[in-house]
Amino acid sequence: MRKQIVAGNWKMNLTVTEGQALVQQVLEQLPELSAQKQVIFGTPFLHLCQAVAQTKDTANVGVAAQNCHHQASGAYTGEIAAGMLQAAGVQSVIIGHSERRMYNHEDNALLAKKVDAALAANLHVIFCCGESLDIRDADTQNAFVEQQLNESIFHLSAEQMAQVTIAYEPIWAIGTGRTASAAQAQDMHAHIRGVLAAKYGESISQQTSILYGGSCKASNAVELFSCPDVDGGLIGGASLLADDFLGIIRAMV
Ligand code: 13P
Repeated sequence: MRKQIVAGNWKMNLTVTEGQALVQQVLEQLPELSAQKQVIFGTPFLHLCQAVAQTKDTANVGVAAQNCHHQASGAYTGEIAAGMLQAAGVQSVIIGHSERRMYNHEDNALLAKKVDAALAANLHVIFCCGESLDIRDADTQNAFVEQQLNESIFHLSAEQMAQVTIAYEPIWAIGTGRTASAAQAQDMHAHIRGVLAAKYGESISQQTSILYGGSCKASNAVELFSCPDVDGGLIGGASLLADDFLGIIRAMV
């Protein structure tokens, strides 16, 4: 059985004080999580050490960074290496978010290097993929997402793929209030799982968690998470308030 995961992506929001309060509120009301369920706080770099300290004694709760550099160390002013994250107790890193692809010009080839750097530092990777509205309107989203996976993660060995979670985030649904329908999400997740099966075999494809992201909230999470190939969510706006995030966590448990 693969893991079900609800991961918050705070993006560039919350002060350290606000972040601390949010993690505390979520932990205080957290429902019991079985070993196959996981909650992740994806915080800005500045919050990570604090979030690690706050969550370290709670089973099945982890912390993710939202980016890492593709080099292990060196003269890269303002950057953070995967090994620094791992040494600080961070378990995962989000790589390939559409906002970083767009605003930081991260392409599939660079993302492949970031994935390698993260795995080399023993971090778990949450790899994001997803199409723009143009591509959806042209009905070429399946080939587009397949190419993203092909160029950024399909060089990995099967053993490495076991350390990767995929997050499908259609760009047209991010922060827009326009969620992919459960049927649209299921269709794409089944496609991704099929592509994984063709590349890595049935066992790896069945073990890989595929999360949905894009205007996911408590009110639509139950329906989305009930799709057979949707294994949880990567949550932006609704991860910033404890009640909203807890509502989505409850939809998973
Ligand atoms: P929203 O939930 O705010 O649409 O953001 C989704 C997202 O980009 C998570 O990474």
